[in-house]
Amino acid sequence: MEFVPVIGVEVHVELATRSKMFCSCPVVDATQAEPNSAVCPVCAGMPGVLPVVNRRAVEYAVRVALALECEIPGMSFFARKNYFYPDLPKGYQISQYEYPLGVNGRLPIFTSQGEQVARIRRVHLEEDTGKLTHVERQGETCSLVDLNRAGVPLLEIVSEPDMHTAEEVRAYAVALRNLLKYLGVNSGDLQKGVLRIEPNISVRPLGSPTLGTRVEVKNLNSFRALERSVDFEIGRQIEVIQRGGKVIQETLGWDEKREVTFTQRVKEEEDDYRYFPEPDLPPLVLEREWIEKIAATIPELPHAKHRRFLQQYALRPEDVDVLVSEQDVALFFEQVVASAQEVSPRMVANWVTGELFGLMNQHGVSITQVKISPQRLAGLLRMIEVGEINNPTGKAVLAEMFLTGKSASEIVESKGLRQIFQKEVMAQLVEQVLEEYPGEVATYLSGKEGVINWLFGKVMAATQGRANPQVVKEMLESRLSSLRKG
Ligand code: ADP
Ligand code: MG
Ligand code: ZN
Repeated sequence: MEFVPVIGVEVHVELATRSKMFCSCPVVDATQAEPNSAVCPVCAGMPGVLPVVNRRAVEYAVRVALALECEIPGMSFFARKNYFYPDLPKGYQISQYEYPLGVNGRLPIFTSQGEQVARIRRVHLEEDTGKLTHVERQGETCSLVDLNRAGVPLLEIVSEPDMHTAEEVRAYAVALRNLLKYLGVNSGDLQKGVLRIEPNISVRPLGSPTLGTRVEVKNLNSFRALERSVDFEIGRQIEVIQRGGKVIQETLGWDEKREVTFTQRVKEEEDDYRYFPEPDLPPLVLEREWIEKIAATIPELPHAKHRRFLQQYALRPEDVDVLVSEQDVALFFEQVVASAQEVSPRMVANWVTGELFGLMNQHGVSITQVKISPQRLAGLLRMIEVGEINNPTGKAVLAEMFLTGKSASEIVESKGLRQIFQKEVMAQLVEQVLEEYPGEVATYLSGKEGVINWLFGKVMAATQGRANPQVVKEMLESRLSSLRKG
């Protein structure tokens, strides 16, 4: 029997506002701040307190809903989702239920198959929970609760079950993360848990009209874990069904070391949450004018940029992936292209994603901290393109530009790095090297032709790497073969 995997994705996004969703406590970095240092009676769930909606959080949510091309009904409601858990001090989470902020959106995604669309079912606002840490103290296990995260604005984005492979799920997650970063509402840092991606996975026999029973995988903190867990689940579920068993609906965790899923809890039914309207908050009414104003702040989105880069610059898809993943990188690339008329965009992409990124990684700096201006990088690439310097020299010059911010021509002039083109000069150097190393020449003539690379290195070294390598290689080959014949 053949099976079709079906995957829908839920994503929880912490909105990067200054204060929390319903109180004025600051939103702090969970990995840095002292536990329980950003907590007040509201987010600690004390009796008698009242929530107040954070306007900026609503604005961010609208920005995301618009970018995902959602319909925004303009009136939405908060509800209470009841469940008991030690990191949920109120005993309920304020969320949105029947009336979310945005519905029926879409997100273009890019895979090796090209561009596709994942439909977005809903986008709604809610609040985050606190965090439990389980520790060993004096031989006893105990659990510590940190409420810094309790009440942080959270946006839930739910897709339709439109994906069918792990690659598509990854592409969806990448596209969404890029979009959130472009909108300035989230840092995209999966490791810090500010963006949490939960795939829902089922399989159905090919031709069957109904969807299979799904599981949900939680606690994935990398794209790799996301991809691996989806693949694992698809395989596991097919095996269960083929053995005559049934997939049960449950919430699973991901064991990073063993690369397997494990049962966390059997899934709650919606009824378990006893949703009811939040009596402490009025309906959330969004004026059209305000929505229009927010719409005007939306930049060119990553998927639009992706499409444009493919068409306008004829780049390889994998280079486009890298270039559009950061707005500042995309901007830098386009500025280099704009000031380097003689150089192809593909060459610019190669140097940016290859050499420049290599230097950035090595020195731990981001594109905005790079000392080389786009104009000066364009200047370097022009010199390479027209042959004023050769490729290896270009790399060395780039490394120096990276440290000093100087222009390529300044470095080339002061160090005398211009490429040697005069054939006579090169021919003379070839002769010199052949005379200097008769042993190696004999080795070559005896049939061990690999030694030519060693001789080539000697000629290049004699020019401090400035000779045109192609020409040197050809000269060396023709000289040696004439020696053999002679
Ligand atoms: P809940 O809120 O209880 O997790 P939802 O109905 O909101 O449930 O669905 C959550 C996600 O599961 C959505 O992204 C949806 O597309 C996906 N989904 C629903 N049914 C299936 C299924 N049979 N197989 C795979 N994904 C599914
Ligand atoms: Mg769910
Ligand atoms: Zn608070």
